[in-house]
Amino acid sequence: MEKLQKEGYSTFLNEYFKKNSDLFSQLSKNQTPHTMMITCSDSRINPSLLLNAQPGELFIARNIGNVVPAYQPAKGSTQAAIEYAVNALNIPKIIVLGHSNCGACAHMYHEPKEGEVALPHVESWLQHIVPAKSAAMLEVHADDSKNIFELTEKHNVIVSLQRLMEYPYIQSRLVKDEISLEGWWFDIGTGKVETYNFSTRYFESVVE
Ligand SMILES: [Zn+2]
Repeated sequence: MEKLQKEGYSTFLNEYFKKNSDLFSQLSKNQTPHTMMITCSDSRINPSLLLNAQPGELFIARNIGNVVPAYQPAKGSTQAAIEYAVNALNIPKIIVLGHSNCGACAHMYHEPKEGEVALPHVESWLQHIVPAKSAAMLEVHADDSKNIFELTEKHNVIVSLQRLMEYPYIQSRLVKDEISLEGWWFDIGTGKVETYNFSTRYFESVVE
């Protein structure tokens, strides 16, 4: 593993960095990212790869389950990242990126077994996903052909968008049309992205 990391870094330095040295020289002075991305810590999600973005373009906050905690009363690193992105960097767009097969959302339906390793911090963090779970369960109750995990992942994105709208400084920028919010769901197996349509209230495939 150590060898792999060393080789990885060496390849980055000799190839990518060399090719983009002007960009890095310019970025060494400041950053002006155009988009903030809030996404899951999941190793299969790579926002820069997904958007073909260069360093300096995306301001990224990651946590288990791409959660946006409520503005009050919780305080934490995600709220600090959002505050800095919006109020210090004036980033005009926030994308909440959820994904398929999300362990955080699946864990909401997990029945603990005896002798299982305890995850007290994870359990406590996942309380943020309870409203998404409730919304998904309500939908599956009406139509049980729907996939509860995918629904939870998508409702989790919607809840995060709703919470963002409750951040006072985002609310005031939304009113003045100075910021836009988007909700995305990425299907790992197919590479397909669906985005949340605020008018229809459905996730729709992004057309090429
Ligand atoms: Zn996830």
